[in-house]
Amino acid sequence: MFDNHVSPWMDEELHIMRDAVRKFFQKEFVPNMEKWEKQGYIDREAWRVAGAAGILCASIPTEYGGGGGDFRHEMVLVEEIGYARLGSFGNGVHSGIVAHYINAYGSEAQKQAWLPKMASGEMVGAIAMTEPGTGSDLQAVATTAIKQGDHYVINGQKTFLTNGQTANLICVVAKTDPTESAKGISLIVVETDKVEGKGGFNRGRNLEKLGMKAQDTSEIFFDEVRVPVANLLGSAEGRGFIQLMQQLPQERLIIAAGACAAMEYALKITSEYVKQRKAFGKRILDFQNTQFKLAERYTEARLARVFVDDCAMKLAAGTLDETTAAMAKWWTTQKQCEIVDECLQFFGGYGYMLEYPIAKMYADSRIQKIYGGSNEIMKMLIARAI
Ligand SMILES: Cc1cc2nc3c(=O)[nH]c(=O)nc-3n(C[C@H](O)[C@H](O)[C@H](O)COP(=O)(O)OP(=O)(O)OC[C@H]3O[C@@H](n4cnc5c(N)ncnc54)[C@H](O)[C@@H]3O)c2cc1C
Repeated sequence: MFDNHVSPWMDEELHIMRDAVRKFFQKEFVPNMEKWEKQGYIDREAWRVAGAAGILCASIPTEYGGGGGDFRHEMVLVEEIGYARLGSFGNGVHSGIVAHYINAYGSEAQKQAWLPKMASGEMVGAIAMTEPGTGSDLQAVATTAIKQGDHYVINGQKTFLTNGQTANLICVVAKTDPTESAKGISLIVVETDKVEGKGGFNRGRNLEKLGMKAQDTSEIFFDEVRVPVANLLGSAEGRGFIQLMQQLPQERLIIAAGACAAMEYALKITSEYVKQRKAFGKRILDFQNTQFKLAERYTEARLARVFVDDCAMKLAAGTLDETTAAMAKWWTTQKQCEIVDECLQFFGGYGYMLEYPIAKMYADSRIQKIYGGSNEIMKMLIARAI
């Protein structure tokens, strides 16, 4: 994007979309970011504005209110969010993950009930996998959802939910059979508007983070929360773990695409800076150290881009395997952190000042190696296939 590379999956329609999305974010989101970072969440109204502009659920079929696109449309959005430094906007979770769980496993009635509202921004989605006692080891979740008549009764605690304060549709990973490991896991949708204020469902603090300051990340507590059995995703209990495994490559690729955009943007602003900043009578760019380091990092960013482009085309065609997605996730996020760190160095002391975008990028990038499956877990998945 920033070094004249045009991804092979781009076409005329996607160029038009990219242009419109870029203008939308510059007008509606960028001017509000400072306020949203201070308050710790993106205004609920901004989701509705994004919905009206067709930003949400871009790859969900039109009959459910979505944009009717495919993964390439999500790629454009992830990249533009990265270039505009709007990483706090939890659309990747909302549109790229939660809406796709409903689209892939939901009944017709569930899709009709929830997807149009997610596409309009009336509902914001979140996924609740992680618990205080377990994150990487998903099979060990302790939250239970036990069937009692025509309801599931949910008990447990979740943490680190992206969109945790604003979400009103939460896809909860719970044990419908606590005697089983992976086979006991199911995905159950909690519509918070139906349970909030009745005692058992409570949101915890909006957690203070190192970066991504405008993203609400929260704990959630369930104490005898009753949801209809009709809110189970899929035709039977015990399918949750397989459903997660099937959808996680998309989540990982969304993270990898965000990493590419961040690398490209960091290199762009750093190149501009080293061309105008002087030391010892020369531009910083004139030092061979700067030239060689930037040459290396541009090469790595291009390698990442080409790899992720290939993964994106495979995902759109339904052929991306779990191992390749894991490779893309760990390597691109590792490179993102290295490149952003090295770019910051070229800004000298200014790079440490939060008024310089590279400083915020440094703080924002660190989580990329941890969530969506940590990079150690990605390497375990790759090693398993050797
Ligand atoms: C900003 C943010 C947003 C998030 N959003 C969400 C969300 O929307 N929904 C959600 O459910 N979760 C979310 N998470 C949680 C995130 O996915 C988890 O933090 C992550 O999966 C790691 O789990 P953990 O924190 O419990 O670490 P642990 O599982 O306790 O791991 C600790 C460390 O040990 C390493 N480790 C663990 N097992 C192994 C092993 N077998 N071999 C080698 N090393 C290992 C890990 O890689 C890690 O470095 C978010 C987290 C953050 C910080």
